[in-house]
Amino acid sequence: MNEQKTEEGVLLQTIPYLRDQRIIKVFTETHGLISLLVPKKSLHFLTDPFLIGEWIYEKGKNDLYRLIDGTVTDSLSHLRIEFSFLQAAGEIAQDLLKTQYPEKKGKDLYRLVTVYLKKLKNPLFPTTLLASFRLKLLLHDGLLAFERKCNQCDKKASLIERGESLCEEHVSLDSVAFSPAEWEILETLLTVRQFQQIEKTEVSEVLGRKIKNLFESSL
Ligand SMILES: [Zn+2]
Repeated sequence: MNEQKTEEGVLLQTIPYLRDQRIIKVFTETHGLISLLVPKKSLHFLTDPFLIGEWIYEKGKNDLYRLIDGTVTDSLSHLRIEFSFLQAAGEIAQDLLKTQYPEKKGKDLYRLVTVYLKKLKNPLFPTTLLASFRLKLLLHDGLLAFERKCNQCDKKASLIERGESLCEEHVSLDSVAFSPAEWEILETLLTVRQFQQIEKTEVSEVLGRKIKNLFESSL
């Protein structure tokens, strides 16, 4: 008999599979991002994206795990109130699908993801939340070294290239440039720990897009 595992996780993506089956991608608390085969219709209540649940599964054929049963801990139903919440949750899911994999350690990241998804309730907030999430994800994965000064000289840094803070003189390839005011906001988002303070930080659409570019160019 295969060994069963029970674990908490957040469902990021559901893919239809043969007949009534589905494949789901779950970001778990201790085993990273895993793929589970949902073998029957009676388990479809566990396939709505972004629900947080307890997943009971076992090793199936090949590398795919097989879902045996589960319970919904939090359906995060508030995400369905506003399209912008659902869209932001979808972007968080995509960012995790790109960066996480099975057995990658991520307990702190898991906590961050569930807190952020639960806090996605304020209509003015998705841009700030996404920006903050992406910066924290880069830090978590060791892909960002944010400094006030250029990595190569004593000048103030104003660009980020492959995770390094640089001045205009020392930048060479693809970099993302920030104004002094934007640099301050980056610093706030990266250093502040309290959620209320993050929530108070205003991130413009332009800065939100720059942080998205920064995120994607760092992968
Ligand atoms: Zn420099």
